[in-house]
Amino acid sequence: MRVGIIGGGAAGLAAGYELTRRGHFAEVFEAAPFLGGQASTFPVGGGQLERGYHHLFVSDTDMAQLIEELGLGDSLEWLESKVGLFYGGRIWDFATPLDLLRFTPLPLTQRIRLGLRTFLLQKTRNWRKFEDVTAAEWTRRHMGEAAYRVIWEPMLRGKFGDYYDQVSMAWLWGKIYLRVSSRKRMEKERLGYPMCSFGTVFDVCGERIAEQGGRVHVGAAVRRIIASDGVATGLEVSLDGGEAQTYEYDAIIATTPSYVFTRLAPELPDDYRARLESARYLSAVLMILVLDRPLSSKYWLNVADRSLPFVGIIEHTNMIDRNLYGGRHIVYLTNYPDRSSELYRKEPADLLEEFIPHLQSINPDFSRDWIVEYHHHRVDGAQPIIGVGYGAQIPDHRTPVQHLYLANTTQIYPEDRGTNYSVRMGRQVARMALEDGGAS
Ligand SMILES: Cc1cc2nc3c(=O)[nH]c(=O)nc-3n(C[C@H](O)[C@H](O)[C@H](O)COP(=O)(O)OP(=O)(O)OC[C@H]3O[C@@H](n4cnc5c(N)ncnc54)[C@H](O)[C@@H]3O)c2cc1C
Repeated sequence: MRVGIIGGGAAGLAAGYELTRRGHFAEVFEAAPFLGGQASTFPVGGGQLERGYHHLFVSDTDMAQLIEELGLGDSLEWLESKVGLFYGGRIWDFATPLDLLRFTPLPLTQRIRLGLRTFLLQKTRNWRKFEDVTAAEWTRRHMGEAAYRVIWEPMLRGKFGDYYDQVSMAWLWGKIYLRVSSRKRMEKERLGYPMCSFGTVFDVCGERIAEQGGRVHVGAAVRRIIASDGVATGLEVSLDGGEAQTYEYDAIIATTPSYVFTRLAPELPDDYRARLESARYLSAVLMILVLDRPLSSKYWLNVADRSLPFVGIIEHTNMIDRNLYGGRHIVYLTNYPDRSSELYRKEPADLLEEFIPHLQSINPDFSRDWIVEYHHHRVDGAQPIIGVGYGAQIPDHRTPVQHLYLANTTQIYPEDRGTNYSVRMGRQVARMALEDGGAS
């Protein structure tokens, strides 16, 4: 079979890899000048750094397997995570049950209740019972008002901004359950990172697709999916901004966000289109500071203090060897705003000025001359908003147009989106296209 793939992120490349591995022809078109999509990298201090911080959980077995199959298994390391919570003007350790017991901003009874409930969630497989209740309601009712205000509300606001009180408990279950499901009892959390970088994993995947007889293009924006009589037959693509050219295929797999897909796709029936249009996303805005010394001792710091203008601080080099980046210390300051928000549109230099005074709350010694350089990235379509009853709204991978498939992050549920699930979905949808085409 000949399959055209729109998007050279985790899902598109995994689909192309799976198809070519099985002896079929796949051609991947990526609009950006690089592969990897949301998990792409750029050069910093002689190394490759993700535009948005990235790591793997032990439950991310599909991604770990792909890394292995690409011959990069030796590069994947599992490192102890150092997690903290910034609350009440100080950093609290927040990695183990003992840390929770020592977290005095919550009364002892609330700490015990929170710990027990979290433990029970980690043991609960039946996530369906959480589908129709918001995380805000559930955590308030079962973990207490104080735990909600101090822990969960800041966490939900951090990830979903103004939509924080609409998020389904099924989403929060996924975060809590999967994070520990494959960890051995009482073992400290370890996070995975390919030392060659996520960007390199996806570049190597692109090379493997070519070695297996496929083709991968960057700077190749798909303008239109061609269909006739309800059957997808090809793509109209502009390479390097040039005139659009037509390519013919037996099947098409689109991995773009839903709002891009509705623009590219031919006439879609109203009910399917309505599902696509009901998908809402937040963007990610990342300010990356390259420092000459560390900001804190934590890798992952949740900021549960709304007076600070960022919701998370990920100090990459508190987990990954800084010698990969010329000895520099790398800190991501992160937010998930709406595209219409002021924060999203702010000029990078202005945003940096806004952030700098608050870094002294994290480390009183911080001074702006620690900053060697900074980088700013916006990632659109970064986080689908998972509301109550979300499962019933997910569009099928098989679209109503024959031989046209959709595999994007809105279809990942109840798990939270991640490279692991995009890889799994990309490979699954590739097999689906083969099956429908009578191939294997
Ligand atoms: C800040 C941040 C932190 C994250 N942290 C983690 C983490 O720690 N661990 C983890 O596993 N995951 C993490 N993720 C999530 C992970 O990166 C994504 O879920 C995953 O990479 C999505 O892959 P995808 O292929 O489904 O989508 P995308 O990566 O969005 O790929 C879609 C591709 O389609 C391309 N495209 C769009 N329109 C067109 C067109 N018309 N023609 C051609 N190409 C087009 C886009 O340029 C893009 O490259 C993070 C994401 C963000 C934003």
